[in-house]
Amino acid sequence: MTVTAVVGANWGDEGKGKITDYLAREADFVVRFQGGNNAGHTIINEHGKFALHLLPAGVFYPHVHNVIGPGVALNMTALLKELADLTERGLPVPKLSVSERAQIVLPAHSLLDRYEEERLGAQQFGSTRSGIAPFYADKYLKVGVQAADLFDRDRLAQRVQRSLVNKNVLIAHLYNQAPVNPEELTESLWLEGRRLKPFIGNTTRVLQEGLEQGRRIILEGQLGALRDPDHGIYPFSTSSSTLAGFATVGAGIPPYAMTRIVAVVKAYSTCVGAGPFVTELFGETADELRERGGDAGEYGATTGRPRRVGWFDAVATRYGCQVQGATEAALTNLDVLGHWREIPICVGYGINGETTAQFPVTGKLEDAQPVLETMPGWQCDISSIRSYERLPEQARRYIERVEQLIGTPIRLLSVGPRREDMIVRS
Ligand code: GDP
Repeated sequence: MTVTAVVGANWGDEGKGKITDYLAREADFVVRFQGGNNAGHTIINEHGKFALHLLPAGVFYPHVHNVIGPGVALNMTALLKELADLTERGLPVPKLSVSERAQIVLPAHSLLDRYEEERLGAQQFGSTRSGIAPFYADKYLKVGVQAADLFDRDRLAQRVQRSLVNKNVLIAHLYNQAPVNPEELTESLWLEGRRLKPFIGNTTRVLQEGLEQGRRIILEGQLGALRDPDHGIYPFSTSSSTLAGFATVGAGIPPYAMTRIVAVVKAYSTCVGAGPFVTELFGETADELRERGGDAGEYGATTGRPRRVGWFDAVATRYGCQVQGATEAALTNLDVLGHWREIPICVGYGINGETTAQFPVTGKLEDAQPVLETMPGWQCDISSIRSYERLPEQARRYIERVEQLIGTPIRLLSVGPRREDMIVRS
């Protein structure tokens, strides 16, 4: 029995999709346990380049059973589109099960998300406007619609009616927009539900049976530790837990089953949206890092927005690994740093005249200045190297310094965006 979580130690966009796609070769299940289609996982393999938003990153392997767990924000339109995109590109329909307990992102959630960001203007959170915050608010207000409700027309109509009462007051009176019609919404959910019906079922039972049979399960996280609503940079956080501790809850398996927690760590920092970002770079160096980063520059996989970039932040990442409970780290995008003669690392924060290596609460983070140390760069292309010993000495020194600072063994190294651009450290 092995259950592995693949989760982010930073602000998201660490390369979780790539690492999951790599590890899924030896998995039986890949499970999404939280979040929705508000972020994207970029995957480059023998089939081409893909940005997955809701589909688990096991969809490229016919032997993998992909599961969307109860903790996920299920946007049916987005999921149907993603499935269609895969088949249009010549891939078979993946083996996919969606939990009947997953709740549905309603068009009204996306509307509210957009209207609220517009109302906030310069104070906005930088939401992707996918409706995720209003969706999770409804879930905890207990006015959400579960996937199982889609197949009982009367119950669906009641749940929609109930859900829209407060929202329509806000839409009409706070945002001065046209209210949502409950009958039309019920009808469109009903129709989409029929299309998704073959995939919807009791995924908790499927996974529990898989565990009994000793199957290998990967729990694929979305976003990163610093976006967690409890432990992250609240309120610039997301609305569901991004932590491995939540993974078993959002998937529906026992917590003790999870024995391996891979924290995906980026070799430099990127952050999308608003909020404090201590190592942020501006000007020429920022542009250079942004253009060289990722597979085609650091631009959001969902929104295309330019990502904020900075040097590696060991304070934030050590904290990220701690709150993830990481048993190991996967360091990604190492090749990107091959350009610089010297590479700064943030080893502490200066806050009001004092230096700390502890990640503080958001209010203090806003005043923090990075304390940098500089490592020698390796100034060459390492993307075709496949063994740790063959890496240039400066690259190994960088990795070992990062490992020491984050207090987590780095077992996987990603040296390029493609599935095969990996080094496994023994
Ligand atoms: P995720 O949401 O954590 O899966 O990350 P994203 O897909 O949003 O962003 C990661 C970016 O880095 C994507 O452009 C990936 O293709 C890219 N990427 C992942 N690993 C590597 C790597 O080792 N080197 C390079 N150059 N790009 C990588």
